[in-house]
Amino acid sequence: MVGARCAGATTALLLARAGHRVLLLERATYPSDTLSTLYIHQSGVERLARWGLLDRIRQTGCPPLTTASYRVADVYLRGPAPTLPGVVGAFAPRRYVLDPILAEAAAEAGVEVREQTLVTGLTTEDGRVTGVRLRTANGAETTERANLVIGADGMRSTVAKFVDAPHYAEHPNLTCVYFTYWSGIPAHFEIYERTGGWVAAVGTHDDLTLIASYLPQEQFAQVRRDPKAAYLANIQATAPPLWERLAEATMAERLYGTGDQRNFFRQAHGPGWALVGDAGHHKDSINAHGITDAFHQSELLAAELTSGDDPSATINDPVRQQAALARFASARDTQMKPTYHTNLVTARLDPDPHLLSLLRAVQDSPELTERYFSVVAGILSPEDLFTRDLLARL
Ligand SMILES: Cc1cc2nc3c(=O)[nH]c(=O)nc-3n(C[C@H](O)[C@H](O)[C@H](O)COP(=O)(O)OP(=O)(O)OC[C@H]3O[C@@H](n4cnc5c(N)ncnc54)[C@H](O)[C@@H]3O)c2cc1C
Repeated sequence: MVGARCAGATTALLLARAGHRVLLLERATYPSDTLSTLYIHQSGVERLARWGLLDRIRQTGCPPLTTASYRVADVYLRGPAPTLPGVVGAFAPRRYVLDPILAEAAAEAGVEVREQTLVTGLTTEDGRVTGVRLRTANGAETTERANLVIGADGMRSTVAKFVDAPHYAEHPNLTCVYFTYWSGIPAHFEIYERTGGWVAAVGTHDDLTLIASYLPQEQFAQVRRDPKAAYLANIQATAPPLWERLAEATMAERLYGTGDQRNFFRQAHGPGWALVGDAGHHKDSINAHGITDAFHQSELLAAELTSGDDPSATINDPVRQQAALARFASARDTQMKPTYHTNLVTARLDPDPHLLSLLRAVQDSPELTERYFSVVAGILSPEDLFTRDLLARL
């Protein structure tokens, strides 16, 4: 397994718990941060709970986000965050807290975890991947053999590059994002939208609130000349109530940002290799699906690789391995495509008039508001919103 964050550490954990022997390679040294606005949707939190990891995250002082709100044009929705069995609210843990917890849990399950280890290439025999080349912290070059190499190494995946995995759905970058952490401004999960701007606020560790500001990709070159001015101006224009509260708040960290918000699906597998998480499928971070989807993919991949009466044969027998990986790839595409397309719509930063009419009908009903936030959280499908009550209101 190459990469030990949301996708790699959790897939390794699940495979090891099912009895597989897993080597997890990570170039970083933990604890280490990564660009992220941190938000984990309820279905991701539910997986953490099922894997026995949610309590560890809560024990670090990460607050549950139990209220959600969404302001766009003349619409204001506010309601309790949807719940799933055993899950109260969403969470936004700092990545330098979350990712080490995932890697530690993998190690406890029997995974051999090696940090400061850079995968520099793959070994192959007769067109089949048979292992990795790697460089350790002291510069030593070596190889490791494996019946399956999984790239969980992020959007710029080196494993994908070495196997030349093609993209088969790709859309242009649509947004750029800057964010930082504020003290003195308690927040729940807050979203604000206007044509040409999107702002989100989430509470995280240490009583800090992360505020993220999304602007169109076309403005990135201009924004990066003075990101702080663009960041603040967008909050003022898109989220006036939040802007007023900022008068009492202090920026607690520097600004982080990126315009590299790619949208794609990559081929997910081949002989002796597979991709999981961002390595195989990436979308604009605006709807905050990456972590939740990485957990989802981990579970899909691990389920296929541990299925059958002899799970070790599923990995060791090349024919059975390819069949399992093909089922994973198909499930990944089917289950990730709806959110991929909704995400593209959001990332255009142009609220749809039909959606606004719908939201106007939703906002006066607490029940429909709760349903709407359940759709956002991925707990209900968009069709589930269209109750008799909503149709009558429309
Ligand atoms: C600005 C921004 C905001 C975001 N906000 C959210 C959010 O609010 N909610 C959400 O759910 N998602 C968010 N995301 C997306 C989310 O961070 C990713 O989807 C998620 O981290 C994917 O996890 P991953 O394990 O697939 O990849 P990554 O987190 O990218 O991890 C890949 C790992 O592989 C390692 N690696 C890479 N190459 C090698 C190599 N050759 N050898 C060894 N190790 C290697 C890297 O060091 C890294 O640790 C955001 C992303 C961005 C950029």
